[in-house]
Amino acid sequence: MGDSAVRIGLVLPDVLGTYSDSGNATVLCRRLVWREIPAAVTEIHYGEPVPSSLDLYLLGGGEDEAQSLAADHLRSHPGIQRAAARGAVVFGVCAGLQLLSTGFLTSGGVRHEGLGLLDAETSPGKRRAVGEVLVQAASGLGVEPLTGFENHLGLTALGEGSRPLGRVLAGTGNGDGTDGAVTGRVLATYLHGPVLARNPALADLLLGWVLGAPPAALPLDEVSTLRAERLRAVKGGHRA
Ligand code: GLN
Repeated sequence: MGDSAVRIGLVLPDVLGTYSDSGNATVLCRRLVWREIPAAVTEIHYGEPVPSSLDLYLLGGGEDEAQSLAADHLRSHPGIQRAAARGAVVFGVCAGLQLLSTGFLTSGGVRHEGLGLLDAETSPGKRRAVGEVLVQAASGLGVEPLTGFENHLGLTALGEGSRPLGRVLAGTGNGDGTDGAVTGRVLATYLHGPVLARNPALADLLLGWVLGAPPAALPLDEVSTLRAERLRAVKGGHRA
């Protein structure tokens, strides 16, 4: 793979791998390669150093214990923080969102420091939020409504340094009618799916940040069919 390849870091898939979010790396890689842009995925495993040289980092979901291990590892190996400081793109899902924030309280009542890239704090809700979610993305992002599924106990309150990714139309998300958080090129959501498979416009938003311009359109019938099916599922599966 040449120097011009987009370098994607899949962060701790061995620890944050419960909800198939690793598929987000596959989606980004394929969407680049289909456009004849070389791409390389580097898996960063627990216990290994975290490179700061990559273009885009992906953090997936995981249960509280795994997530706490991940937080300790990523704070003591601050490659993502260094990369973000020079403008690398960072994308987190659920535990990934909570980890990228200032801190999170687990269901066991222990607070862990996060990476401090998003201005947000998480604490346990009263019951687990499980099911399909629909999110109207913030208008400035230029992304169509987002679909995904959620499975989390933690609820997240944003501070002034982050804005929500969007407004929840069905489901729970952050727990206050919003979902996710965005600060600069660090973006996170509660949506699994993998969310970038269900929402190609979100995948292309991240790729556009890396490439410096929106990538060329990539119409794919099977992706449109999946989107339509998932939108029907979320609309049919929720009480009015
Ligand atoms: N452990 C976190 C919670 O329950 C995140 C779960 C997840 O990543 N799906 O809130």
